[in-house]
Amino acid sequence: MTNAKNSIAPLKPPPSLLEAIQSARHPALIAHIAPDGDAIGSLLGLGILLYELGKDPILACQDRVPISFQFLPFADQITDQIHHDADLIIALDSSDRERLGDIYHPGEIGNLPLVVIDHHITNLEYGGINWIEPGASATAEMIYYLAEALHVPVDTAAATCLLTGIVTDTRGFRTNNTTSRTMHVVAKLTAAGASLNQITETTLNSNSSDLIRLWGRALVTMQIDGGVISAVNKLAMREDLGRLIRADGLASFLLSAREAQIAVVFTELPDGEIEISFRARPGQDVASLALELGGGGHPLASGCTVNGTVEDVRRDVVKRLLTAA
Ligand code: 5GP
Ligand code: MN
Repeated sequence: MTNAKNSIAPLKPPPSLLEAIQSARHPALIAHIAPDGDAIGSLLGLGILLYELGKDPILACQDRVPISFQFLPFADQITDQIHHDADLIIALDSSDRERLGDIYHPGEIGNLPLVVIDHHITNLEYGGINWIEPGASATAEMIYYLAEALHVPVDTAAATCLLTGIVTDTRGFRTNNTTSRTMHVVAKLTAAGASLNQITETTLNSNSSDLIRLWGRALVTMQIDGGVISAVNKLAMREDLGRLIRADGLASFLLSAREAQIAVVFTELPDGEIEISFRARPGQDVASLALELGGGGHPLASGCTVNGTVEDVRRDVVKRLLTAA
């Protein structure tokens, strides 16, 4: 019996994308705001490969590299400025233009050819060239195949970045988009010298004690309505916790409740907006509600930011999830 989900069919970048990269001299690579391991891993991995291809890439992200990813090679080369000699923009892991943040703006940069490389099913195909693979476990999995298509050998540095993207986006190979193709790429990356153990320890097994303190405060607000488990992360809960904003990992943890089909964490932001993080068990779809609310993501992991008070937003979103179920 064959299962299409486990198909090992290699990914194929479109020829127009290969041509755009081959003819660029200063490609500017942009990872999304509030970058995760796949955003940073893909940015650095592709940056290293393009450098080896003789290009002079610019590695850009509006927001700072989170501590867990600062060990990656060339992480200190990431800038929040795209200088004027860029001749191609490559957006990574970003399903809409807004995810690129303020560093991508109309004018000079906005007029450059734009290539979008992403694995989110909600991608709005906002580039001139769009390579979207919703079946890929991570954008980093796509970058591995891009390296093959460009005939650039993946060295230890690039492999470490790409493996970090895959390990973090699949939460250690646990998501349902982890296929035999993913594991094939993982085998290639580890053979190239990337250390699965070092990456796991530095990313998945590494939290600040403040984050764990925030989890504790947010967990007190845990509530189960039907199959929907939720919690809120209020501004007041983090007043003494420095720059910490998101209760990273909390939604996935909540979803481990046996009664839960969907987990939602509502984070109060300083400007009066509420950031929503959705996680779901296989068979559910939280991408559509996130997209409706102006965000995006995957069927089983998505997010968005809306206006309102945290209580109102929680009530409304839980009701919509229960009605849709
Ligand atoms: P997280 O809950 O980890 O912040 O996000 C889960 C997934 O939803 C990720 O794949 C992320 O890219 C996507 N996501 C989260 N927030 C947004 C958003 O505001 N816009 C879009 N387009 N995607 C989002
Ligand atoms: Mn991402």
